[in-house]
Amino acid sequence: MSEKLTITKKKIPDLLRVETWQEEVPQKDENKTEKQGQEDAKATNTLKKIRKRRKAQNQFLTPYQKEAQERFEYLKSRLQKLALETVNEVICEKAKELGEEPFKLTEENYHILPSDLYKAIRGKENPAFSNFEEQSVALNVKYCGGSIRKLVELALHETLHLNGFLRIQVKGDDIKSTRQGMSVRSTIQQDLKDEKHEHFRGFHEALMGETTKRLLEESLSRISTKIKKVSSGQLSDKDREEFMRFIETEQWLDSKEAKEKKKEISEKNNVPIEDIFWVSGKELQITSPDSNWEEFSYGGPRKTLNYVIKEIAEASGETEEEIRNKFLKTHFSGKEKSVTYLMRQTFDPEHLGKDGRKRRYEQKPSAFEVLGAMEVTYDSAQRQLDTLKKMRQKVKNQQK
Ligand SMILES: [Zn+2]
Repeated sequence: MSEKLTITKKKIPDLLRVETWQEEVPQKDENKTEKQGQEDAKATNTLKKIRKRRKAQNQFLTPYQKEAQERFEYLKSRLQKLALETVNEVICEKAKELGEEPFKLTEENYHILPSDLYKAIRGKENPAFSNFEEQSVALNVKYCGGSIRKLVELALHETLHLNGFLRIQVKGDDIKSTRQGMSVRSTIQQDLKDEKHEHFRGFHEALMGETTKRLLEESLSRISTKIKKVSSGQLSDKDREEFMRFIETEQWLDSKEAKEKKKEISEKNNVPIEDIFWVSGKELQITSPDSNWEEFSYGGPRKTLNYVIKEIAEASGETEEEIRNKFLKTHFSGKEKSVTYLMRQTFDPEHLGKDGRKRRYEQKPSAFEVLGAMEVTYDSAQRQLDTLKKMRQKVKNQQK
């Protein structure tokens, strides 16, 4: 991995171990006075509360984690900063195009973290997550450290999340997002009653994944153009080398050889060729540390989303692009009415009352509810897709 070329550590975490970031749990000590015992009990309770809250809120960082994030993050290279700036530019333009208020993040809102620290904070190994509380994005260096292409993909996805409509519930010390983009989550009260739930998660991720896929090439080509401009001026050897590696990687992915490789992988693994994000070839920028090829994320849910878009376009007479934009607009604005109407019209017109609302006595889930139940896994996405296809077929048969 080409970590050394692209990264400078702000502080060198020599003792980089997962344990380093785990809060200490006070040990029981039989010989302690009662007062000390009380203090310890208090500390334990606080800690439990922090953990519990973090779990409930899903993505929140404790102050301790926040500090670790800032202290141990990697310094960004010139190219990485340029890439993040471009990602925000592209997303802002898209939001404006849809008539929505854009929300621009600066590069300081992105934290590239050592893998162990990332895992300790996130609680699992994955490439990136966004944190709506502080409007920041944490990135695992293992995935994005060696590849600008991957950094751009992850930053697009997470920044799109943060640009989504947000509704927060605050109750005493507790704070929770009950709505983010299309995702609807249970309230704090419901969580306390063990009625935790989330809807539209798979759909939300599908929309982020598909939008990322569609904005990626535009972002990368803008970065290439910017590089050409910057390259004529003064550049350090390190910057110049990183710029070259990025350009060469993009050229490799565009080569005949790479395209043939993609075709082979596509056939062998039953993945649409345009979904292949990267293939290894030369010792350039490595995107996937565990594989020699990579596809865009959330392939299953995206397939279901694209089917829905295609069918709505067919039924409404609008283009797929127009329908896709309507869904994305809903992500930004939180206003889903026009989209739910289109869904019902296409998949279950019997759910439509005269005023366009769902009829109260209707027992079967509506198409929109079917979509809302989609999880992020391939199996779940396939199940919902099958149900939607059946619903659509029924409508088509009735129209004959
Ligand atoms: Zn996501």
